[in-house]
Amino acid sequence: MLKRKQIQRLQSNIGGRVLTPDDASFHAIGPVRASGNAEQLHQTAQIIVRPYDGEDVVASLRFAQEVNIDVAVIGGGGHPAKLAAVDDGLLLDMSTQKSIQVNPMDQWAITQTGVTWREFDQVTQAFGLACTGASVPDVGIAGQTLSGGIGWLHRSQGLTCDHVISAELATADGALINVSEEENPELLWALRGAGRHFGVVTSIAYQLPSLSPEVLGGYVTYPLDKLGDLAAHHRALSGDFPETLSTWLIAGRDQTGGGVCHLAIFYAGNPDDGETWHRNLISFSPPIADTVKLTTYLAWQGHSALGPVSAVARCWHAVDLETFPSGTVELVQSSLSDAPTPDCRICVIHLGGVLLQRADELSAVGPVQAENRIIILGDGQAAEEADLCINWADQV
Ligand SMILES: Cc1cc2nc3c(=O)[nH]c(=O)nc-3n(C[C@H](O)[C@H](O)[C@H](O)COP(=O)(O)OP(=O)(O)OC[C@H]3O[C@@H](n4cnc5c(N)ncnc54)[C@H](O)[C@@H]3O)c2cc1C
Repeated sequence: MLKRKQIQRLQSNIGGRVLTPDDASFHAIGPVRASGNAEQLHQTAQIIVRPYDGEDVVASLRFAQEVNIDVAVIGGGGHPAKLAAVDDGLLLDMSTQKSIQVNPMDQWAITQTGVTWREFDQVTQAFGLACTGASVPDVGIAGQTLSGGIGWLHRSQGLTCDHVISAELATADGALINVSEEENPELLWALRGAGRHFGVVTSIAYQLPSLSPEVLGGYVTYPLDKLGDLAAHHRALSGDFPETLSTWLIAGRDQTGGGVCHLAIFYAGNPDDGETWHRNLISFSPPIADTVKLTTYLAWQGHSALGPVSAVARCWHAVDLETFPSGTVELVQSSLSDAPTPDCRICVIHLGGVLLQRADELSAVGPVQAENRIIILGDGQAAEEADLCINWADQV
């Protein structure tokens, strides 16, 4: 256990704040562990540091080495596996690091790493700019970018990490370094996709394409027993999809417990063309609900396609597939009828587009050649559902 004097010494060395379990906000920050017992939901760190700047991050890393405790970093807190958990260690909470500066002329922005996608999009869209961001607005830009990053724009713009032009990194040995094509280029490669393993990223600069604020977006809904027809129709059309069209299929259960599949349709181009694709996609059968309409990119980015960023019980798995093995539709249907909670879903994200033309050697992600990413979302709202969600997602 850390001594009070050690904690006071760290506090006097930094401009930010050191929180201990005695602080009211301590237990509200970051991961809670759901292991089937509500009493076990708690923050597991010994201290939490909310740094003021990169120098505070360096001072915290040096302190942790001196007193021999582990360190974790939390940005948006959105990792489904709650990776930003540290038992009895020091948690660096970057969530108060919110500065964003945009250079609209040269189309780039530099941001601190406590920013969420909601906050980043709001600032960049004010200048008619945007890059691929997460489909859930409360996901942190750092954790998402450092692990690659897909979203509604990946088919037209590539992965989020493809937009990273530079970063500031606090390394484990206590240095604060610049990472760019000129300085430490091998680390730039690593931060683009494998970035959680190389230190604490304190700022990221992104190149930002132009994006018109007006987009077409919404969901068409079918009963789950139409999934086979919907998938076959989608497959027949998808070879001709423009890069500006993104479709995500989310299958689950509705409020009455009946199986449904929602096809999200997002079009970031000429709205008339988007409307034509919308009509083509539903031409095989009229949907039971259709919310596709003209909207703004900000409004679309403000909705949570995959549910809330935190769930009390959560186990997700993802896999990229070139093609669907035969029996996939039946497997999805039977898995959902066996799902332990109404929040368990299966999502199929259409990849392709410019992802197929990326220069793979520029990032640690490597090639993304698969047609689809399947995500098994085992979610529940009660801690005692955790094991059920884990078993279900593992089995699917
Ligand atoms: C509901 C939901 C929807 C999602 N939707 C998408 C999506 O559409 N597209 C997509 O690509 N991903 C999506 N994700 C996955 C998400 O991008 C990753 O889980 C990401 O790691 C979350 O980042 P975070 O900062 O919010 O999470 P955190 O849990 O805070 O961090 C995740 C990991 O990144 C590390 N990290 C965070 N900040 C830093 C930093 N500054 N320096 C070094 N390491 C850091 C943490 O230590 C941890 O290991 C979604 C996740 C959820 C829960």
